[in-house]
Amino acid sequence: MTVTDSDKLESSNPATGELVGAVPAMGPDDVARATAAARRASKDFAALSLRDRARHLRAIRQAIVDRADDLASTVAAEAGKPAADAWLEVFSSCLLLTYAAHAGPKALRARSVPTWPLVIKRARVQYSPFGVIGVISPWNYPLTVPMQAIAFALGAGNAVVLKPSELTPLTGVLLGEVVNSAGMDLVHVVTGDGRVGEAVVRSGVDKVCFTGSPITGRRIMAAASDTLTPVVMELGGKDPMIVCDDADIERAARAAVAGAFSNSGQTCIAVERALVVAPVYDQFVVRVTELTGELRQGTEPDAHVGAIIRPPQMEVIERRLADAVARGGRIVAGGARRDDLPGSFFAPTVVADVTPDMELVREETFGPVLPVMRVADVTEAVAVANDCDYGLNSSVFTRDRAEARRIAGELITGGVNINDALLGAGIPSLPFGGEKWSGFGRVHGEEGLREFSRIKSVVEDRFPFTPGMAGMMLRSERPTPELLNKAIGVAYSSGVAKRLKALRK
Ligand code: NAD
Repeated sequence: MTVTDSDKLESSNPATGELVGAVPAMGPDDVARATAAARRASKDFAALSLRDRARHLRAIRQAIVDRADDLASTVAAEAGKPAADAWLEVFSSCLLLTYAAHAGPKALRARSVPTWPLVIKRARVQYSPFGVIGVISPWNYPLTVPMQAIAFALGAGNAVVLKPSELTPLTGVLLGEVVNSAGMDLVHVVTGDGRVGEAVVRSGVDKVCFTGSPITGRRIMAAASDTLTPVVMELGGKDPMIVCDDADIERAARAAVAGAFSNSGQTCIAVERALVVAPVYDQFVVRVTELTGELRQGTEPDAHVGAIIRPPQMEVIERRLADAVARGGRIVAGGARRDDLPGSFFAPTVVADVTPDMELVREETFGPVLPVMRVADVTEAVAVANDCDYGLNSSVFTRDRAEARRIAGELITGGVNINDALLGAGIPSLPFGGEKWSGFGRVHGEEGLREFSRIKSVVEDRFPFTPGMAGMMLRSERPTPELLNKAIGVAYSSGVAKRLKALRK
């Protein structure tokens, strides 16, 4: 993206440098108008039954199917992705909408909860839409990432103001157009840089779902704190992969290479640290090096690794590598820009013998780099994995399922893939989100639908003759301390004998 003048953003293809298109650079007035329009749309949408809402989500999915070609080609052009990667974003969008339509009516139906010991009362939890959700998204998956908020925000009955990344605004604009072509004008897109994002936060939206870096996340929380607007934070990651000595090394190496290099490593759940126990370390390093050498890079349909979407990221990658080498890291594959290709490409890179003091191990790289660290045993691997500011996702490779689950339990992370990588985020029924600097709140799953719902607790009489209970406190026969003491003993003593004793007191 370049801001060419005060009212235009140009979007270019990072794989070729070619101009793809331009959108308006909006200001706070445009954002206010978008939020007001979303508010109007939200009222009609909220009035639909859960079933009709689900039907509308399926209509949106059909609109995406009908425009799949346009969506995939816009993503590929704007993000410099191989075609298959761009099509995967369209596929994921359909998957997310399908789940939200299917699960919404059940997850958001009012449910009864027990009222013991106040059995003469009935209690229900009711879910209702917030109204308008502000969705602020990054550039790495310009379609899937906004969609993982939008599908669940709409599934919960809200309208959306979407602020796509300034690097991939055309995809955001097209996404809004396609969703709205199904009717009801539920997604209002505003284009511009971070200032427009901040204007969204301050525009009176009822909740913000932000996906991006922790540094921006903090700024958004600060702005949201002025109005106590609730936020969901989907932030960065530094995902560990733990490889135990009984692991299937071929399978682990393939998952590490796919996990580190798919989308050129510009994935919040990329494998950013392989922690491999000493007995299988050398074998693992040899195999990931070989597999990395087999990757094809470029934008041809069969390429595995595409462009670096945000060119300044090249310098970040180089800085991390220089620091790692200065501290004893060994580059065993890649290690440099691909000047032989047009546009912005960095060769898939494997760095062996990394240590916990390196930036490459501590900071998110967000590029095609796989650092591999030797650890003595699983205990050290878990300690290193958890000694990190981030906690988004992780992988564990072992043939011992019970051990894998034990390790999963010890990791401070939003998700664990056992004998695989990346996968959990692609299962829309599984809640997705992070711990620590990786954020809080969840998209996906029933939790994701409820994240975008107001949760209301309602108490009512169970029977027509149920007396008002609060008023009893004013009457002379209200419970005495002795009666309450007896009730505690009868209701909560352990064992029948103790309960009977309490009754006789
Ligand atoms: P970023 O934080 O720079 O920008 C994200 C969005 O925030 C953009 O639309 C930007 O215009 C907007 N923004 C910037 N300043 C703002 C402000 N002050 N107020 C409101 N909005 C503002 O992130 P990025 O570089 O676009 O994306 C990369 C980051 O996103 C990485 O850290 C990556 O790990 C993270 N990410 C996380 C997930 C997840 O689900 N956890 C998914 C994808 C990417």
